[in-house]
Amino acid sequence: MSLAADFIQLFYPRYCHGCQRTLVAGENVICTHCLAGLPKTDYHRLPENPVWQRLANRIPVTQAFAYLKFRKGGIVQRLLHQLKYNHHPEIGVALGHLVGREVNDTPHGWEIIVPVPLHESRRRRRGYNQSAQLARGLSEALGIPWDESISIRTQRTETQTKRNRLERWRNVEHVFAVTSTDAIQGKHVLLVDDVITTGATVEACGRHLLEHGARQLSVVCIAEAQ
Ligand SMILES: [Zn+2]
Repeated sequence: MSLAADFIQLFYPRYCHGCQRTLVAGENVICTHCLAGLPKTDYHRLPENPVWQRLANRIPVTQAFAYLKFRKGGIVQRLLHQLKYNHHPEIGVALGHLVGREVNDTPHGWEIIVPVPLHESRRRRRGYNQSAQLARGLSEALGIPWDESISIRTQRTETQTKRNRLERWRNVEHVFAVTSTDAIQGKHVLLVDDVITTGATVEACGRHLLEHGARQLSVVCIAEAQ
């Protein structure tokens, strides 16, 4: 670390978003200790993993996986909470980098990365779309373009948390639209979301992308909730 960076760190110490410990030189966003303990699924090594199975009988997905397991009170919940509600978009980018590095040696064929959109009013209030930050990180790690203007959410939806699977599907069935078919025409699209629960959201959004010209669809989520 340079002298100037040491000086900045003295007055503005950077904390790990997983455990609140002060980050040391070379650490960024998440400390080495927390990185080593992330509850990884390793689903990208398992083509017919539980996330793929959840989606495959509903929409044609080539690959689908979640990188981490979401547990109540666990580190993944803390990271995603900071990302979504405390204005820390850098957590999304960092997680995107981690996923990208993890899957870089796995053959995939993805050509463009599309984040699941937020409604514009929510995006403006939050300042960014957390899934777009993940897409940005993945794009940087994999060298594949990303675009958050292709898929949009035309209606505000209430939170999915208290809904069952059928209600979740009805809640999101008609809320997505595609703005530019040229951008996805004939392409293998990688759709990115933060947490997958029933899969209703990625199913509805992914269906739109396929109906508007995407040749193939794959799905990457940061975390799988049970
Ligand atoms: Zn930590």
